[in-house]
Amino acid sequence: MRIANLDNRAALVVDSDRAVDIATASQGRFGPGLQSVYESWQEVVEWAASLSPGDTIALDRARLGAPSPEPRQVFAIGLNYQAHAAESGFEAPTQLPPVFTKYVSSFAGPDSEVVIPEGTTVDWEVELVAVIGRTARRVTAHDAWSHVAGLTVGQDISERTAQLRGPAPQFGLAKSLPGFSPQGPWLVTPDELDNPDDLELGCSIDGEQVQKSRTSDLIFSVPRIVAALSETVTLYPGDVIFTGTPAGVGMGRTPQRFLRPGEKLDSWISGIGELHQRFVAED
Ligand code: ZN
Repeated sequence: MRIANLDNRAALVVDSDRAVDIATASQGRFGPGLQSVYESWQEVVEWAASLSPGDTIALDRARLGAPSPEPRQVFAIGLNYQAHAAESGFEAPTQLPPVFTKYVSSFAGPDSEVVIPEGTTVDWEVELVAVIGRTARRVTAHDAWSHVAGLTVGQDISERTAQLRGPAPQFGLAKSLPGFSPQGPWLVTPDELDNPDDLELGCSIDGEQVQKSRTSDLIFSVPRIVAALSETVTLYPGDVIFTGTPAGVGMGRTPQRFLRPGEKLDSWISGIGELHQRFVAED
């Protein structure tokens, strides 16, 4: 099953250009917003499985938003691929990787324009994003997938100057400028994927590939992240987890490279879909 955020209404994706509005098709039982669909996730899954496709609506990519646009909590994981930890100059984590947040005000849909403010250094980080579908508190890694509604593509766009300027790293703010957390194009449930623990992900700038890896290279896999986070906090339906980026970010290059106005960043994860971001100068 694929769930899209179409104009802030939950929609079941039928194919690349058609969808079913969940509130309309369920006669108001679910939706229309995305958060209420995650709050009733198990019932929605059962209802969708028995749905015979009736009236469909156009799935216009320009109208897509982040698949979970109003999470109670957003988690982002740092240094979760060996080669990225190395290019960042850190030891790879063994117990718990660094955890920070990205503020919801930075969320955007899959196709968007991102403003590069004057005097900043804006970097790319393609990431697998997981959305929680069932409250999780002290779950084991073995049980963790059953608490995940699905997966989507994310970019953890990062402003390195602000991130590294102070006495301690400034992750949350430096990764939360407007439009710095594009996600989509839709949520894919784990059962749709041959192996949800082994997906190819990557991104390119104006067609030049800059990151490419597999989620099987995650130091902490999605189930281990859910288990580890839920040891400390309660995870709620709709919560969003950015799982970390592989090697190939601009900061780790020699010489360093950052995004420039006019450049186009395309990101993908096999079995899920693509993001398209265009970068522009401040007015
Ligand atoms: Zn990241």
